[in-house]
Amino acid sequence: MTIIMKGAAVATAMKGPLTAALDGLRRQGVVPTLAIIRVGARPDDLAYERNALKKLEGLGIKCRVAAYPEGISQPEFGGEFSAINADPTVHGILLFRPLPRQLDETELKLVINPLKDLDCMSPINSAKVFSGDATGFAPCTPEAVMETLNHYGIALSGKRVTVIGRSMVVGKPLAMLLVKENATVTICHTRTKNLAGICRQAEIVIAAAGKAKLITADFVSSDSIVVDVGINVDVAGNLCGDVDYEQVAPVVSSITPVPGGVGAVTAFVLAKHVVRAARYASEV
Ligand code: NAP
Repeated sequence: MTIIMKGAAVATAMKGPLTAALDGLRRQGVVPTLAIIRVGARPDDLAYERNALKKLEGLGIKCRVAAYPEGISQPEFGGEFSAINADPTVHGILLFRPLPRQLDETELKLVINPLKDLDCMSPINSAKVFSGDATGFAPCTPEAVMETLNHYGIALSGKRVTVIGRSMVVGKPLAMLLVKENATVTICHTRTKNLAGICRQAEIVIAAAGKAKLITADFVSSDSIVVDVGINVDVAGNLCGDVDYEQVAPVVSSITPVPGGVGAVTAFVLAKHVVRAARYASEV
C-alpha cells in the first residue's frame, strides 16, 4: 500500500524541538523576531503570509509585516529594506519574490545581512549551500523536502534522485542538499530529453517544475518515492501539484500530497531559521 507522506506529521515532529529552542531563547531574554517584507498584494504571497503568521506566532515567534505599495520606487524601497536589515530587534527577514519590475532584486541580495537572510537570497548563503556548509540558510522549500524525506526514514546515501526544476529557489539548492547527503542526483529541466524515462530510472523523483500534472504513471514504478513541490491550479480551478496524483499515488511506494505535503512543512523550516538567526544575533 502506498505511504502518503503528509506534511502535518513532519510539522508535528518539528514542533517539540522548536518549542524547546524558543523557550531557551526567551529565558535568555531574546524575543525571536521575523520581518516579512511584501510589495503589492499577490494572492500567493498573501496566502503564504497568513500561513506563516499563524504557524510562527503560534510557536511564540514575533512577526512584523512590512507591506509596501506595488509601485514603490527602488530608492524608497531600498531605504526601507536597509532600515529593517539594520534593525537589531529583527533577527530574520523573509522578502516575497519576484518583486515588481521596477525593483532591483540583485541590489537587495547584496545588501541583506546573510545572518538574517532566512530564505537564501544572499550569494553568501547560496555559496554556503553549494559548498555544503551547513552554517548558511538554504531556501525554506528545499529544506522542507529534506525534512520530509528524513521524517519518513528515507535514506539518501547512494540513492538515484531525479529533481525536475533548476531554479535558484528550489531545484538547484535542493540538488545540492541531496548531494551533501550522498545521493546521486540528476537535474532535469525544459530541455531534458526523455524526462519520463529518466524519472523511471530514479529511486526518488522530486517534481519542482510548476506544471500541473506533468508527472504521470509512465514516469514512475512501484518502488518510486515521489515528492511533489509544485503548487498549481488545475483547469477546474483546484490546487494541485506537478504530479497527477490520482494516476500516480496508487502505483508508487510513497508520495507527498498537494495540498498537505511539502507546503505544510515550509513554515516550520522558516521557524527553525528564525531560531538560528536569533542565536547568531545573541552570539555576536
Ligand atoms: P520556476 O522558477 O518557474 O522553475 C521551474 C523549473 O522547472 C525550471 O527550471 C524549468 O526549466 C522546469 N520546468 C518547467 N516545466 C518543465 C517541464 N515541462 N519539464 C521539465 N522541466 C520543467 O519555479 P520554482 O520557483 O522553482 O517553483 C517550482 C514549483 O514549486 C512551482 O509550482 C512553485 O509554485 C512551487 N513552490 C512550492 C513551494 C512550497 O512551499 N511547496 C515553495 C516555492 C515554490 P527551465 O529552467 O528549462 O525553464
